[in-house]
Amino acid sequence: MNANVLFRSFQEKFQLCIEERTTPTLASQIRVEDMCQDEAQKLGPKEDEKEWKMPFFDRDHHLAYTFADLSKCPTYLDASRPWLCYWSVHSLNLLNHTFSHDMKSKIVTFLKTCESPEGGYGGGPGQIPHLAPTYAAVLALATLRCEEALASINRETLANFLRSVHQTDGSYIMHTGGEVDMRGVYCALAVAKLTKILDQSMIENTPEWIISCQTYEGGFGGEPGTEAHGGYTFCAMGALTILGKAKLAEKDSLLKWLSNRQMRFEGGFCGRSNKLVDACYSFWQGAVFRLIDMELEKEEQPTLGLAFDTRALEEYLLICCQDPRGGFRDKPDRPRDLYHTCYGLSGLAVAQSYDESKQLILGGEAACLPPIDPVLNITAESETFASSYFERLLSR
Ligand SMILES: [Zn+2]
Repeated sequence: MNANVLFRSFQEKFQLCIEERTTPTLASQIRVEDMCQDEAQKLGPKEDEKEWKMPFFDRDHHLAYTFADLSKCPTYLDASRPWLCYWSVHSLNLLNHTFSHDMKSKIVTFLKTCESPEGGYGGGPGQIPHLAPTYAAVLALATLRCEEALASINRETLANFLRSVHQTDGSYIMHTGGEVDMRGVYCALAVAKLTKILDQSMIENTPEWIISCQTYEGGFGGEPGTEAHGGYTFCAMGALTILGKAKLAEKDSLLKWLSNRQMRFEGGFCGRSNKLVDACYSFWQGAVFRLIDMELEKEEQPTLGLAFDTRALEEYLLICCQDPRGGFRDKPDRPRDLYHTCYGLSGLAVAQSYDESKQLILGGEAACLPPIDPVLNITAESETFASSYFERLLSR
């Protein structure tokens, strides 16, 4: 038996075949394919063995790596500290870690110090409110599944902050005086939906602005006239789904662009045309297939079914992206980090969600992750807990 029989990825017939390494980007592509092949070969039989090893999901090391980082309350990435909380807490939740009451309180207390008196959250204590850490803080608090965490969010000032960064053309600036891009729209609408403060003043002209960012390729750019990109495409489709307007997106070209972002040899996704595979796009691109399915279900049309090769994506993540010491990396020669751990695990959860029986999951039962909400990227259980908490608040 060889790698070609065992895996859907790493097939020689999918390898880039050129006579000479004529450009730097072609040379990079070949280098990445070689690295992925080397990772797959590590599972091959050693001296007296006959069988290939099946990929192993290293849950214990992932838990240890992610938990150690959260426990230290890291101060690197000083303007992204709520992000470090979200990446860790969501990863730990996907790994079925149970947070102690003490740890939950510490996280709630820390994030409260990042909440601005003007509403929303800054990248650290005392920093100006910004939509990106606002999303990260609210989603981290929702992930903890406790009333203390959800009650700590000041919904009134949060709504004021969101209105203050909404623009008349429907877009959002990331912070007062800041740049416009698709992340802003998604972050604003995601927290407004979750905390049930979304109103008409926050969405005036927003669906039209989002659609103006769909490019000729089919994906979405960060703003009108810019290149289609996986992160912005997720943000655009996530925001349209929240608004109940996903039908406005041109689906055929979007699907064609999305499907072509999965790399035949490596199995993972890239973020843009002619770019290299990267683990974080497992979620950014993979979840969009789920969002399209949600819209098709709403329209009572047949869903996409298996529109991408979920097994190949699982192979890329388990074989090429697990750091032996725990955590995930972008690709084999990159260092592990919390961002790629979070979005690698989230992408794995999306791929596994297509196998309802959980019988064919690569790595077996030990690799099985809980269902996630593809719009918000928290577990379905955390989404249900937060939604019912804010529902009850509204009915009082
Ligand atoms: Zn990445």
